Amino acid sequence: MLDRRRFVAGAAAGFAAGALGEVVAAPGAAAPVAVERGATARELLLTDAIVLTMDGTRRAFRSGYVWIRGERIHRVGPTRELGEPPRGVPRRRLDGRLVMPGLVNCHTHLSNGMLRGLYDEMPLEVWFAQGMWPVLDGLDAAAAERGADLALLELLSTGVTTTASGEIAGRHPTMLDGVLTAVERAGIRAVVSRIAMDSADESSPAQFIPRGYRDTPQFAADEVRRLRRRYDSARVSVVPEALGVLRCTPEMVQAMHAVAREVDGLFTMHAASSQDERDASRRRFGHGSIVELERLGVLGPKTLLAHAIWLDDAEIRLVAQRGTGLSHNPVSNAYYASGVARLPELLAAGARVGLGVDGASTNNGQNVWETMKMAMLFQKQRLEKASFGSAELALELMTRGGAAALHMEDRIGSLEPGKLADLIVIDTERVALAPSQTIVSNLVYSNDPWAVQDVYVGGERVIEGGRHPRLDAKAVVAGARTAFGRVLRTAGLEEYVRTRGGWQWQ
Ligand SMILES: [Zn+2]
Repeated sequence: MLDRRRFVAGAAAGFAAGALGEVVAAPGAAAPVAVERGATARELLLTDAIVLTMDGTRRAFRSGYVWIRGERIHRVGPTRELGEPPRGVPRRRLDGRLVMPGLVNCHTHLSNGMLRGLYDEMPLEVWFAQGMWPVLDGLDAAAAERGADLALLELLSTGVTTTASGEIAGRHPTMLDGVLTAVERAGIRAVVSRIAMDSADESSPAQFIPRGYRDTPQFAADEVRRLRRRYDSARVSVVPEALGVLRCTPEMVQAMHAVAREVDGLFTMHAASSQDERDASRRRFGHGSIVELERLGVLGPKTLLAHAIWLDDAEIRLVAQRGTGLSHNPVSNAYYASGVARLPELLAAGARVGLGVDGASTNNGQNVWETMKMAMLFQKQRLEKASFGSAELALELMTRGGAAALHMEDRIGSLEPGKLADLIVIDTERVALAPSQTIVSNLVYSNDPWAVQDVYVGGERVIEGGRHPRLDAKAVVAGARTAFGRVLRTAGLEEYVRTRGGWQWQ
């Protein structure tokens, strides 16, 4: 029933061998810089490493090499076949450390980075009154930038080289500028969605949207275009999102989809993400969210849906046929008791499925390794079948699966000549990853996110020995603490957070 090979074939696509000459982002700089066409900007040979290629034929080398030329992978193979590399190519012997493609996180909300721990078991009445909108009121550009710094440092340090992220501008039109400034500085590859919503339906508190957060399709479209002009680069893509079928009018959904088509970018949405949405959608439309999106003509290709928990059989066939990307977010879904997505059924149908952590407000960490593990464990429980899945499947979902879900499989997701040199180096000598005979299992089921030592994005080392050269961890932590304090005050939640646990703190 569960055919993983079919998934791999479905997610696989031929790579487009690209030459240098694209514009690459210069993290921390105001504007992108051009790398001269035909020039070899950087060259590096990583050898004597365990190499997981995550390619379509599942090649892995006990002792392998990866040759980076410029921003791309030049060659990959077993060390014994390397031969004599040309003189002048810098070589790093990795002595048994592990190299694999950078991880692809298909869903988060970077600006929420410092909201970690706020929503634990929050009673609904607190959430409605203070938790949702008053917190967003406090997320101005400066706070969003601090939240994004924190989330980005965790994601990058633990091996994520590409992330998707959705951001609600609402009362602060420049909020995304804060997020995108942090994204540029971090040097991560990112698809950042500007989330629009416009429903005036005030009948349900769960779906209610205050006036200050209701966009017009025209304003939302103009903002996406403005942000693209300012921040789009070879690494960063700003795209539109219509939050959901209940929080957006059909006009908004179609307008945002049209903007995505216009700029040839992804169109993102949250869909089938809770029992509440499932039931309300059936009441309002007479069918599920996915069928409604099909009716509106906005299902794939180049559509990415977050959560996709409550799909019936016909909807699963539909997303597979349309090539719609899905972000499966098992930890976040469990945090809100939103249900367990039908992952094996989606894979068997050939859907493009990646994994996402979701924002720190709904997870709470940005721990992609935990997400891989839980993606397997929840299905074992749901199916009452311990033999479901594997560490290999989890890793495939977090790399090539994510690339397929983001419709970027021609550029990222595996170590193959011509693809972008997005890769990570993992210390295999860590206590939690021993013994090395079962290293692939240990990566996922034992998991040690901080075993990641080095992270390369487009051939540039953005994490060196666990540290980011431009993001000082202490400063990022301090910035998040200050920003979170301001948000708590704005939302009137300081007392709630102090007393909610019932312990006698002194
Ligand atoms: Zn989300």
